[in-house]
Amino acid sequence: MRGALFTSVLLLVVSATAAAGVPSENPGPAVALYRQLRDLGLDPARVYHIHDAGLDRGEIHITLNSGTIAFSQSVEGRVTGAFFDGDGEILLVPPNPVERTSMALFLGTPILEERFSTAFFRFSDDTFERLQPSLRPAEETTEFLARWGPTFRELCVTDAFELLRFLTWQGGASDAAPGTFWHARLAGLHLGPFDVLFDTESAEQVSVGQNNYVNGAQIFDLWASFASRNARAAPSGERDATNELGRGSFRIAASRIRTHILPSRDLEAEAQLTLEATRSGARTLVFELSRYLKVSSVEAGDTPVEFIQNESLEGGDLARRGNDLVAVILPRPLRSREKLGLCFRYGGSVLSEAGSGLMYVGARGIWYPNVGPAMTDFDLEFRHPAGWTLVATGKRVSAETSGGEQVSRWVSERPIPLAGFNLGKYVEVRAKTGETAVEIFAARGVENSFPEAASNPMEVRPFRRNTLPNMSAPPAPTPSAEAQAVAQRSARALEFFSRRLGPFPFSSLAVTQMPGPLSQGWPGLVFLSSYAFLNAAERERLHLTRYEKLLFGELVQAHETAHQWWGDAVLWKGYRDVWLSEALANYCALLALEQEKPEAFRAVLEQYRQDLARKWHDGPPMQDAGPVTLGHRLTSSRLPEAYEVVVYGRGTWLLHMLREMFRDADPESADPDARFYQVLRGVRERFDGRTLSTQDFQKAFEDALPGSLRYEGKKSLAWFFDEWVNGTALPRFQLSGVKFSHRNGQPVVTGTLLQKDAPDTLVTSVPLYATMPGGKPVYLGRVFADGPETEFHLPAPAVARGLVIDPHQTVLTRP
Ligand SMILES: [Zn+2]
Repeated sequence: MRGALFTSVLLLVVSATAAAGVPSENPGPAVALYRQLRDLGLDPARVYHIHDAGLDRGEIHITLNSGTIAFSQSVEGRVTGAFFDGDGEILLVPPNPVERTSMALFLGTPILEERFSTAFFRFSDDTFERLQPSLRPAEETTEFLARWGPTFRELCVTDAFELLRFLTWQGGASDAAPGTFWHARLAGLHLGPFDVLFDTESAEQVSVGQNNYVNGAQIFDLWASFASRNARAAPSGERDATNELGRGSFRIAASRIRTHILPSRDLEAEAQLTLEATRSGARTLVFELSRYLKVSSVEAGDTPVEFIQNESLEGGDLARRGNDLVAVILPRPLRSREKLGLCFRYGGSVLSEAGSGLMYVGARGIWYPNVGPAMTDFDLEFRHPAGWTLVATGKRVSAETSGGEQVSRWVSERPIPLAGFNLGKYVEVRAKTGETAVEIFAARGVENSFPEAASNPMEVRPFRRNTLPNMSAPPAPTPSAEAQAVAQRSARALEFFSRRLGPFPFSSLAVTQMPGPLSQGWPGLVFLSSYAFLNAAERERLHLTRYEKLLFGELVQAHETAHQWWGDAVLWKGYRDVWLSEALANYCALLALEQEKPEAFRAVLEQYRQDLARKWHDGPPMQDAGPVTLGHRLTSSRLPEAYEVVVYGRGTWLLHMLREMFRDADPESADPDARFYQVLRGVRERFDGRTLSTQDFQKAFEDALPGSLRYEGKKSLAWFFDEWVNGTALPRFQLSGVKFSHRNGQPVVTGTLLQKDAPDTLVTSVPLYATMPGGKPVYLGRVFADGPETEFHLPAPAVARGLVIDPHQTVLTRP
């Protein structure tokens, strides 16, 4: 399951190479406006000396101490840009510990305090008018304009899309103006160029970061991103950050897509989208679409409307996933709750042929206009050459042959977050579990690139990349021969999850072989790596580690199957909640594994613990990348591979800790896991077809919190979510001064629990056991370790020999 869209700053960060793919002939008024905003120059009549000028936007405090500033030419009577050369400074203090820690990872200090020598500004507000009192006309302007004019013009490309959205906004009396878009690129004296953004239309209005490079690839380091003090109470902060592209102005209720697949790589499509406006005022609507697909027309009703297809900017999350932006500019603004039909026609070479009869869209981005994962009704029609089998999300309602082509229609049974398809020359195998049909589609061979790992950041990577060793002269595996075993594994996984998490959300599950080592769990449709279609002997020949054998042998398939519940039936709310989908899918897969192979279960958890403590080259350990709640921000130039280690590894451990705490609360129960599963099942039911946030998840566990887990008597898990979920600690625990004695005639053990390598604010529920003569350790109880030293006393058996901390390793600790 791919991750959520990133915050807007990543769409905006400068790349001078970003070019607009605007149709050249007869541009309409919106395209003409866009070009003006994009090809903007400095105005020779607006060059000034500036002295002691303050620019405050939310938590961003900029002072232009002295220097020269030139403003842009007007567009529709508005000044939207400026360039400054002189002495300036910025102060930015993130309002919470998570963002201060993130800042410190990149800067070494938790706050941003930096002098700069030049600044590029782009804004939708009255910055020009507000600066007037600090301006004195400059005498000599030619040199300044010659020196900085070209740089300004180049940087203007970056924000043109965003400014178009703000400038075309036409809010009515009841709707606030679109607010403020404000971007500064500062040339820091120590930090080099970095970007600061204030955008009231974003869920997190303030963000700051920097473009960097890792092995030649651009990567944007988001130093900090947060809801501004002033905007925090505003309703826009409440909306789903998964819909960041739509900016809370509309949602896509339904998509009807007719697709013609032409051998061997091309696709032509017509997508009819039904939009629903969620507020009034927006005229410019922005969608994402694969950069391999070009839009030829967009119609609203039957009327052609203007559109602009633009490259997304390098280094951003969107570009990493292979997507571009398409802006559609309506002739009039949307009214709240209005429904609008938009028809996109587009096409291009988006398919890859991997060999052995396997075709896929895969790494080439999203194949239909979209605003990120959001619950939508899909009605898909595909036309493709006979001889291939197509499998898509939804229920197949018709299939026929017409003019040498196969035509099939797939309708979603319920709103689903994404739609996808796979095409291949497959062998089909069927199985059934309860009412659910399982169909496996496997090819007779593996992709040409097998066994080399293709890296695709868009797809699920529940394992480390680049870990697959090369195989010398392998006998060719035959995945179709393994299809029956794959079907049985799927049926077993469905059975296990249905019993514990509630019914399978769809009527059938299709599993199709996907080239490469990566897998994805789409609604009712799993794209399963060729590596999971190997038999034990074939896998043996790959010389995989024990962990990798477990992954391809069982975990990946169970993980993608669990995404049917977590990710497909229940969607995450924003990028800070993506970890829930991944950790839940992964931990549920591990729970299935634990039933059959408890040792393997332990080995996987141990691997994750080791990975978190592992150093990245000479840099910091992986755990330092940040808490699970940073989502895709964990991929940074400091720790480029930390996303998987933290989201899957730490995320899985966090759920393991919760489960073990709940287990210990019911030690006498016939099924100590009953309470834990009851919470998961409740979450699954309550958030069915909706988005789930980390706060929602916390509340669900708090509602079921047993008395023994109430820290300081409160029915709250704030101590766990504030410090463990939103933290990065890998503590160590030790005992000191342990003494067995009697109190009021009862045997007790007293002592001090030491918590090391952890922030002073960390609270951990630690199970303590007594060692017994000639037997297994006996559970005594849990102690809340609060800070570095905690005194405790627990009842103990009179014959106890000693005390041990967490012998079953249920708490994530430093290896
Ligand atoms: Zn996943």
